[in-house]
Amino acid sequence: MPITVVHTKADLRSEVARLIREHAGRRGSAPSLGLVPTMGALHSGHRRLAEAAVAANDVVVASIFVNPLQFGDPKDLERYPRTLEADAALLESVGVDLAFAPSVEEMYPGGDPLVRVTAGPLAGKWEGASRPGHFDGVLTVVSKLFHLAMPGPAAGQPTAFRAYFGQKDAQQLAIVRRMVKDLDFPVEVVGVPIVRAEDGLALSSRNQFLSAEQREAALVLSRALRLVDERATAHEPLEPDDAVDLIKSQPGVELDYFEVVDPDTLEPLAFNCRETPFTGEALAIVAARVGDVRLIDSMPLKAR
Ligand code: AMP
Repeated sequence: MPITVVHTKADLRSEVARLIREHAGRRGSAPSLGLVPTMGALHSGHRRLAEAAVAANDVVVASIFVNPLQFGDPKDLERYPRTLEADAALLESVGVDLAFAPSVEEMYPGGDPLVRVTAGPLAGKWEGASRPGHFDGVLTVVSKLFHLAMPGPAAGQPTAFRAYFGQKDAQQLAIVRRMVKDLDFPVEVVGVPIVRAEDGLALSSRNQFLSAEQREAALVLSRALRLVDERATAHEPLEPDDAVDLIKSQPGVELDYFEVVDPDTLEPLAFNCRETPFTGEALAIVAARVGDVRLIDSMPLKAR
């Protein structure tokens, strides 16, 4: 089926309603609805999210919106790649039904919203520490997208409303899950594993700003994550300081943080990873600057 691309909230609502009604008419039962929020410049990481949504839902909507509220650095916002035609083709090839690609004016008529969703203490650390306001911007746009994509009463309720987020942005995933829980959104949040390039670098729309040399240097991040992952698998002490030293020894890479944290609270696991054998579940997270590109990566750790 060819994908439909809409640019206004009104068209999004009417197209979702049409797809839901059509599906219910064909099948005689209410469909499930999947939502994949993105900022576009889609790559195989986003593809994996869309594939997961298509596999589990009858109707799938993806959004493509470079959300100014979540950018602190105007240069980062300005140079963020915008590739709508290619994005629509990728989504269509996976089987996504509808793409919502609004303008900034359409999403925030009259300027930035006065009322925002605040992410609270979970947003004060890691990414939030170096990007003040970032997660409030994320939650504000994600809340709007949830409301906009959820069909109104005329279309009938879907049997499930699922939203797909990548584990690549581990803190974002944890905070969105917490918002859904704390604010009772009728949405099931699904986390999708990270997709990496063959050399190990986590796919990101910002990787294209890396020179060949910088990209080579950036590989130290996934190497550091693998180091603690191998120790986790072997039930050994993780000794995260070794991963920190490894990254710090790489010229051209400026480490912001490397930590082993609880996947829900994002608090560092002080015990169970230094000197004592690792037995539980945790998340290793890392962020670094390579040239003027900020890269993040993470890896779920499990003693197997
Ligand atoms: P973005 O367009 O960067 O806002 O990303 C949209 C969604 O795709 C977010 O939920 C990201 O976590 C997810 N995503 C981005 N890169 C990857 C990746 N390499 N693997 C899996 N998911 C990703």
